[in-house]
Amino acid sequence: MSPAQSSFVVTIDGPAGAGKSTTARLLAQTLNYVFLDTGAIYRTVALLARQRGLSWDDAEALGQLAAGLDLRFAPTADGVHVLASGEDVTAAIRLPEISQGASRVSAHGPVRQGLLELQRRIGDAGQVVAEGRDTGTVIFPEAQAKFYLTADAQVRAERRAAELAAKGTPATVAETLAEILERDARDSQRAVAPLRKAEDAVEIDTGHQGPDQVVAEMVALVRRRGG
Ligand code: C5P
Repeated sequence: MSPAQSSFVVTIDGPAGAGKSTTARLLAQTLNYVFLDTGAIYRTVALLARQRGLSWDDAEALGQLAAGLDLRFAPTADGVHVLASGEDVTAAIRLPEISQGASRVSAHGPVRQGLLELQRRIGDAGQVVAEGRDTGTVIFPEAQAKFYLTADAQVRAERRAAELAAKGTPATVAETLAEILERDARDSQRAVAPLRKAEDAVEIDTGHQGPDQVVAEMVALVRRRGG
């Protein structure tokens, strides 16, 4: 089904630490679009599984958890908060352990299937910037503008380590590099919806340019396409 007349979907995919969240948030703000952080959804499934004593390898139980997920993105004065059944999980889902959990749970077909509708429902709301691993390939294959962000792994690790330090949960660059390489490998090699560039996505190397420059390039393309 083609999107409604007024809808315009932008997708931003790529490996961990490539700058997807920063640019997606800024792009959504600039265009006045809704920002859909799909990674936060997988992270929430991993966190809830941990809280409920479910294994990150139990595909069936996790699929049920995903299908019944009550998740809301709530805009507040200090940014968008993630609420799971009303509980604010915004900070808890960013811990490195939960990053690994998200990568583990997201490899299961029933989990991805369970979250498909939730993501598309948010997309159907109209004008959206969706960010993740498969937003351009699986979730919104008909998106009007698709981007794939990359950067050298060392640069990505340095960025992510700085982010963690700013959040008060520091990790060394070496630890962070190992963590993102492990996730990248799992995310790219999984059988279901692996991380890959959509054929019609524009690839941008964010290693040598700041978010403002990247977003300006994105805005220009979105405007050319009528968004
Ligand atoms: O982007 P973020 O680091 O928050 O994503 C956490 C994990 O969730 C990723 O490593 C990936 O395994 C998974 N994910 C996914 N598909 C998406 C978004 C995230 O598999 N669309």
